[in-house]
Amino acid sequence: METQDIVRILEQTGALQNGHFQLTSGLHSPQYFQCALLLQHPHYLQQVCREIVEAYHEEKDTIHVVIAPAIGGIVVAQEVGRQLNVRSIFAEREGGKMAFRRGFTLEPHENVLIVEDVMTTGETVQELVELAEASDAFVIGVGCIVDRSGGKHKLDVPVFSVYSTKVVTYKPENCPLCQQKKPLIKPGSREI
Ligand SMILES: [Zn+2]
Repeated sequence: METQDIVRILEQTGALQNGHFQLTSGLHSPQYFQCALLLQHPHYLQQVCREIVEAYHEEKDTIHVVIAPAIGGIVVAQEVGRQLNVRSIFAEREGGKMAFRRGFTLEPHENVLIVEDVMTTGETVQELVELAEASDAFVIGVGCIVDRSGGKHKLDVPVFSVYSTKVVTYKPENCPLCQQKKPLIKPGSREI
């Protein structure tokens, strides 16, 4: 998928919004991602997940399980798992730490593909790498829909992103959009 195609889909579905946003961090940004708005459409979900599956084409037959962090990654894991015909599980926060609940487990020496919808710093994905390695599973790589670090994450496993971009942020006092008196939008609960 060409960059212009994924950008078009992100914009058409409202998953990528342009304007003047106050992020949860308090910083202002001309862009805001809500990937769920893309993933709600089954055909787009299939399309972007196929990109991840194709990126790991060579390892395809060796992947035993797809794992994701809740909540955003769950639908991505389900669809990538469906396309690979392997099981799909997710980790969620328990006492501040990522953990497998609901009886989900990884067997030692299983090969794992980690997926996520939007990766910001890579810290959550890194927690999943450590969680998998704690089970003696092997992490083949990471596939995400959007990498907002623009490739600046510090993960030492292979990472594929359907779309990679460095999100511009401003301190409110230095924000050119504030100076232009553009209305400030404060989107929901998304951690940014
Ligand atoms: Zn501003």
